[in-house]
Formats: sequence, C-alpha cells, structure tokens
Amino acid sequence: MTSSYHETLENLRGVMRAIRSDTVAVAFPRDRAASSDIRIGYLDGRPVKRLVITLRGPGCGWVLRGGGCTMCGHYAGTTHGQPASVADTIMQFTDELNRYRVDDIEVLSIYNSGSMFNPDEIPFEALMGICRHIRHIPAIRKIVFETRAEYINPDTMNVLADELGPG
Ligand code: SF4
Repeated sequence: MTSSYHETLENLRGVMRAIRSDTVAVAFPRDRAASSDIRIGYLDGRPVKRLVITLRGPGCGWVLRGGGCTMCGHYAGTTHGQPASVADTIMQFTDELNRYRVDDIEVLSIYNSGSMFNPDEIPFEALMGICRHIRHIPAIRKIVFETRAEYINPDTMNVLADELGPG
C-alpha cells in the first residue's frame, strides 16, 4: 500500500472519529432492547411473520476502532461503549419477545446495531442464554443474527446450535 493510501485512511478515520464524538450520548437503560417490530420474512419461498428485535449494545467494534463505516448511523442508538451484562442482555431479549404472541412467528431476526457475534459487543454467554430460550418456541424455524463475518467461527456456532436443540 502507498503512503498516500495510509494517509487518506488516517485522515478519513480522524473525520469519522470527530463525527462519532459529536453524537449525543443518551443514558439508555441497559436491560431494555432498542426496538422490535413485525415484518415479512421468507421461508421456503413463502411469506411468513418475522419478528425483528434490536438489542441495545455498546456499538459496533469498527466504530470504536476507527469511526466505522461512513454511511452508518447505528452508533447513535448504542450505549457508546458501555457494555450490558449477560443478565441485562438476556433480559432485553426476553422482555421484548414477551410483548408478542410467538405461536405464529416463524423467522426471528436479532440485531444489535453492530455484530451479534463480536464478544466485545454481546457476551457469548448471553447469546447462549438467548438460544436456550428460543429452543422452547417451536413455531420459530429460522433465526437470523446480524454480524460481520470475521466474528463467526465453527466452534461457537456449534455451541449455539446445541443450545437451540434439534430442529
Ligand atoms: S454497524 Fe455495520 S455498517 Fe455500521 S459501522 Fe459497524 S460494520 Fe459499518
């Protein structure tokens, strides 16, 4: 890479950090999810009910490292680096889920305004607890976790699959 590439990257990161530091910090409760809503999902080519739950996390690891992606505004809805405990994260999920009838929800999407599989954003134990909870909801047939790909590894996926159980 040329030095102008690195200079440009550093300049861009400086601009992004300045933009992020101007974002107003709101004292969100750590045990409350950011939002949820029902949308349409697709399963085997069929439209089905999809519940989307967005957990409140400390923010995308890429924002903390270098300001994050220029087009992304998710940081405004995070705790700006303040992590939620395992118990609070599970509480966010279960409380939000309890607002819905789950007997006809076939797809469940879980987001966190960042990467669900980055342990610095969502504790892995909390992910396990969430999957253990989902195991007891037979209507759910597909789960979507939003994450950057570099946080995925087969060992942790196998642990979560075990928590979800057969089927
Ligand atoms: S949440 Fe996604 S889009 Fe936003 S800064 Fe992080 S990696 Fe980029």
